[in-house]
Amino acid sequence: METLISGNEKILAVMYAMNGGFNLNGVKSDEVEKNFRTTIENPAAIQPSTFNYSFETPQKIFVYNTLYNSLVKLTPEEFSALNGKKVCSDELRQKFLESGLCVAAGTDERENYRRWRLESRKHRDHLSINVTTTLKCNARCPYCYEHGVKHVDFDETKIDALINFIKRHKKDLPVKLNWFGGEPFLNPKIIDTVTNRLGELGFEFECFAITNGSLITRQMIARKFPKWNLRGVQITLDGTAEQYERRKAYVDGQRKVFKKIINRIRWLNEAGIHVDIRLNIDRNNMKDILDLVYLLQARFDGSKHVVYYPAFVTGVKDKLTDAEKISFIKEIFEALANPDKMNINRRLYSLPRTLPCMRNDPQAFSVDAYGRVYNCEHLVGRKEKSLGTLKRLSKKINEARLEEPLREECETCVFLPKCMSGCSSNLRTGDAACMIERYMIQAYLEFIGE
Ligand code: SF4
Ligand code: SF4
Repeated sequence: METLISGNEKILAVMYAMNGGFNLNGVKSDEVEKNFRTTIENPAAIQPSTFNYSFETPQKIFVYNTLYNSLVKLTPEEFSALNGKKVCSDELRQKFLESGLCVAAGTDERENYRRWRLESRKHRDHLSINVTTTLKCNARCPYCYEHGVKHVDFDETKIDALINFIKRHKKDLPVKLNWFGGEPFLNPKIIDTVTNRLGELGFEFECFAITNGSLITRQMIARKFPKWNLRGVQITLDGTAEQYERRKAYVDGQRKVFKKIINRIRWLNEAGIHVDIRLNIDRNNMKDILDLVYLLQARFDGSKHVVYYPAFVTGVKDKLTDAEKISFIKEIFEALANPDKMNINRRLYSLPRTLPCMRNDPQAFSVDAYGRVYNCEHLVGRKEKSLGTLKRLSKKINEARLEEPLREECETCVFLPKCMSGCSSNLRTGDAACMIERYMIQAYLEFIGE
């Protein structure tokens, strides 16, 4: 067995601590550690982990455990031993247990994980608020979920209510504000006002923005962003210049916007602002996305604040199959000189998710331009789907978010710790709910295995 990533001992210890009727609450970490060590050194019997995902080639098999994060390379004989089809040597058995590829027989890992995440959901470390600064936009992307929504700015008479809402919900926690829209930088005034007010109150906060990037100026980066404590932006690119400009269809007939955006990404990187470039992929722009990846690589390979991630456009008729998605992400990995430009290491090492996204987090909200509050950023502007308003939000309705049951396919899914039941907005558009991690991990294992 060759270990490429060792299992995360802390996660293993937590899962063992959940075994046998006690959990981490009130249990000192040295007791947890002792229980973990005793169990793995003297297991009466073992079983393979339910979270092992494997990719097989004729000579070797890669096994990644989505809960403990271990990644190993096995021979076919070792793989048979892992699955109880061949006798396992004492040495190998110990290695399997230490990496979490095997656990003590009788361990219900899914139940332990369920109890751990329900407990963890009660202890959030920040308040997160997405604010729609405006529903206006200077681009007209065909996939925008805000089609049919009235193009208005955030109602300034609701600013007091927003500040009071933050005061009520932040408790002692820091605040993360995510500005989105429309194009959020079409209405920077609201960002100025809210961040000034939070500063005056002495609240700890940081900001992020989902923007097309076209309105960012050097002056904004130098003067506004530090005041806003803006740490990062997400910018979507749909292809290289021609494809990008055709799809975005900027309203004022602006030309050469792609070139402009690439320059702005460079400025942001120089200023230490993190840039997540979302590569929006559908069946019609795949070749162009690969060209874009080469272009980005040439421009930003050494830029430590710039990373990319693939996103498959939802709500379109001609959807890519799961196999096509995996195969295309593999092509991107092959094109990249540094696969970690897609943050693959962060995804492989990440702690198990306690939540899929904001929808089950009673400390996370999306606020629309009218001051209504939602549990999903794709629902803003749809009054009938709101949880309430900034002034009135029932505690009971908000906390009911914690308890959403898993769908049947997720109950048994090996990717659950990396996805936690996916995106319900994708389900609404008839797409797979599965988060990108599902496809990226499979693509990466194929990439390193071939
Ligand atoms: S349900 Fe989907 S769109 Fe809505 S907040 Fe969650 S991940 Fe985002
Ligand atoms: S949404 Fe998909 S990847 Fe996520 S847990 Fe469910 S079946 Fe698995």
